[in-house]
Amino acid sequence: MALIVHKYGGTSMGSSERIKNVAQRVAKWQAAGHQMVVVPSAMSGETNRLIALAKEIQPQPDGRELDMICATGEQVSVGLLAMALKAQGVDAVSYAGWQVPVRTDNAFTKARIQSIDDERVRRDLDAGRVVIITGFQGIDGDGNITTLGRGGSDTSAVAVAAALKAEECLIYTDVDGVYTTDPRVVPEARRLEKVTFEEMLEMASLGSKVLQIRSVEFAGKYKVKTRVLSSLTPPDIPLAQEAASGTLITFEEDNSMEQAVISGIAFNRDEAKITVLNVPDRPGIAYQILGPVAEANIDVDMIIQNASSKGMTDFSFTVHRNEYQAALAVLNEQVKEVIKAGEIAGDPKIAKVSVVGIGMRSHVGIASLMFRTLSEERINIQMISTSEIKISVVIEDKYMELAVRALHKAFGLDQPAV
Ligand code: ADP
Ligand code: ASP
Ligand code: MG
Repeated sequence: MALIVHKYGGTSMGSSERIKNVAQRVAKWQAAGHQMVVVPSAMSGETNRLIALAKEIQPQPDGRELDMICATGEQVSVGLLAMALKAQGVDAVSYAGWQVPVRTDNAFTKARIQSIDDERVRRDLDAGRVVIITGFQGIDGDGNITTLGRGGSDTSAVAVAAALKAEECLIYTDVDGVYTTDPRVVPEARRLEKVTFEEMLEMASLGSKVLQIRSVEFAGKYKVKTRVLSSLTPPDIPLAQEAASGTLITFEEDNSMEQAVISGIAFNRDEAKITVLNVPDRPGIAYQILGPVAEANIDVDMIIQNASSKGMTDFSFTVHRNEYQAALAVLNEQVKEVIKAGEIAGDPKIAKVSVVGIGMRSHVGIASLMFRTLSEERINIQMISTSEIKISVVIEDKYMELAVRALHKAFGLDQPAV
């Protein structure tokens, strides 16, 4: 007997029929002798609907009130799933985040989990109940409801699994695992049997929304065995077959077989680029540009500074698109008053495309193949950044899908792994 956590995403919870299927699947796992904790998301489309409704009243919604509204989506899901289990004769109980409690900081709309109390949950599990806990939400130190950012139910599930020292956390979703890239964009994308934790961390942080980045961080920190698999298979397929399906996130590099050089391609359109032109090239200039941006709590991602010519240089960086206007406003003042640079140019129409793979550590020529492929498609590279296991480029956003498809092919990701 083991303690297992299941997480079901919005599509998996998308209708009463699907919820009944989830209940049937969970009942199958419990009947096999496991203690079951289930963390569902809101029904698909519900969180978007709630945010849109909030914006009809207040275009820039107040964070506390927005969380109060958005958290209701998951509350409906847990209640419906508990009912579906009871209707199938399985004892179950649903909890909102504050009832567990799942404690977070007070950063509304992007709160971080600080601790999860396991007492109440264990009592129910010992009494033979399936425990259903809302994804995406928690409670701060002042008793306010908080949410964890879009896609945050993944993080709730892995954090619950860590707190309960669960044997495994199974993330059920609308694809049957982690693919070489988003199969909606590249139909030839292949499912990976395994992906290393480091690769998953890069892919999630670079835009693969199959797992929220913080869930991967939790999995790594607490060594939670985590698997991504499909919720759309018939719920009565043999448990052993289901348990071995999908993609496992591993913590060890597999030396027994030849490691593919590149494991996946991630992309996103979430960023915007800002360039400060004709900056005097002197010590402290990067700090003068980025210091006020950091003080305004705006995260900066990629940064480049050109070689200077005649004592002047250009300085570019990217920020999240939601913070683009705020970053421009901060810089406008600073550039005029303090730095006395030429002008600021902004471009929100960019995309970031990244190739990821731990095989990069031991192979050369990855960057040149990436750049050659993009040049053959006549795609201009605006910025480049690298780490030991990834290369990212910023390009014009209209070329994003073309770039992803071309790179997927160039790196042989559509071919079966050897
Ligand atoms: P859920 O509602 O279950 O949390 P999400 O929509 O958040 O599901 O995440 C699943 C989606 O992630 C898939 O439908 C797929 O389009 C997308 N996705 C992006 N990158 C990948 C990838 N590398 N592998 C699999 N799915 C991916
Ligand atoms: N319902 C939330 C969202 O749509 C959380 C989640 O689905 O993981 O972002
Ligand atoms: Mg998700």
